[in-house]
Amino acid sequence: MAAPEFKIPRPHLGEPYLLTPGPLTTSYVVKQAMLRDWGSWDDDFRGMTRELRARLLDLLGAGKEAFDCVPMQGSGTFSVEAMLGSFIPRNGKVLVLANGAYGKRTAQTLEYLGRAHVVLDKGDYLPPRGAEVAKILADDPAITHVVAIHCETSSGILNPVEEISEVTYAAGRKLLIDSMSAFGAIELKVADIRYEALVSSANKCIEGVPGFGFIIARKTELEAAKGNSHSLSLDVHAQWAHMNKTEQWRFTPPTHVVAAFLVALRAHEAEGGVAGRGARYTRNRDVMVAGMRDLGFETLLKDRWLSPIIVTFFCPSDDNFAFDRFYELMKDKGFIIYPGKLTVVDSFRVGCIGQMDEHVMRQVVAAAKEALAEMGVANAAPPARALEERAILAA
Ligand SMILES: *Cc1c(COP(=O)(O)O)cnc(C)c1O
Repeated sequence: MAAPEFKIPRPHLGEPYLLTPGPLTTSYVVKQAMLRDWGSWDDDFRGMTRELRARLLDLLGAGKEAFDCVPMQGSGTFSVEAMLGSFIPRNGKVLVLANGAYGKRTAQTLEYLGRAHVVLDKGDYLPPRGAEVAKILADDPAITHVVAIHCETSSGILNPVEEISEVTYAAGRKLLIDSMSAFGAIELKVADIRYEALVSSANKCIEGVPGFGFIIARKTELEAAKGNSHSLSLDVHAQWAHMNKTEQWRFTPPTHVVAAFLVALRAHEAEGGVAGRGARYTRNRDVMVAGMRDLGFETLLKDRWLSPIIVTFFCPSDDNFAFDRFYELMKDKGFIIYPGKLTVVDSFRVGCIGQMDEHVMRQVVAAAKEALAEMGVANAAPPARALEERAILAA
């Protein structure tokens, strides 16, 4: 494979890097693509929608012909809700695999939709494992679908979706994947892992701006989804059927966002596709985590479960450390970090995705070092309690 032509430009002078899991730092050319208006029914825009759908499907690799891509207006959550409401029949029952905020949101969505469900809640950071999923499915024959979160962005854990897929299909059930923060950087090739549908959005690993999500689903599931949805605007079958007939979105599309996304998709290909993008994010993570550990910071997760998407760090135990001040100091140095979402101990998160490379990550570590010095924090080591928490992860 030819070396991808790809260079990380610096964002505008004074514009901080977003070390967040979307919206994230986008390239200048992606932003520039939004400086033009498009007629939503015009041939040119219809061609853009066609290209967008085809390019996203290409990421599935061999066997993609059995799938189709349906873009959906709104943020990622709208597409998750659309997927759940459209593919789970009203008499279906769902097993939700939760280990953080997004798994919980899926359960909450099913509550709204009135779909029967049970939740395997693993807490803040333990992965749902194949054996326990298999047992739940064996004990409850009413369960028709399993919903898994690919990368649970609230802790950054990369859940073992292959293992989950195997036991789901061995038990004759169907898998839906929220791959919002992973798709485009972590492979989900249909030749390697079986699933009925996945969902992601414009402003995560493809590095577009926010404004729509997309559902990629098996055509047989799209056909079967007719009449399932509780919602007019979130009906995936209706959007799909209309798009296939007219190449138009049913309701006003986010035209500028689509234009920007196409530029982002072409850059994704130029970088070497999913493998190339994943390699850069992995390098970002490795450089950043190594540097932060040198400063005394500890990650919530052991290396095995660390995603190349976002990493959770424990806050230092030093009395001089205050997250709000750390945040402001980091922002002054050009980096927006992200508060943590753990329930037991204080934490913060640093994203590895977006238009950033390892050189930027080294600057992030240097900025953290300076910030600690300015706060008078001699060592970034977490409280013993945090490490005890983490020891539970040893499995
Ligand atoms: C970002 C994200 C979503 C969607 O969030 P929105 O704020 O609605 O875009 C859903 N699931 C996961 C795992 C995510 O990372």
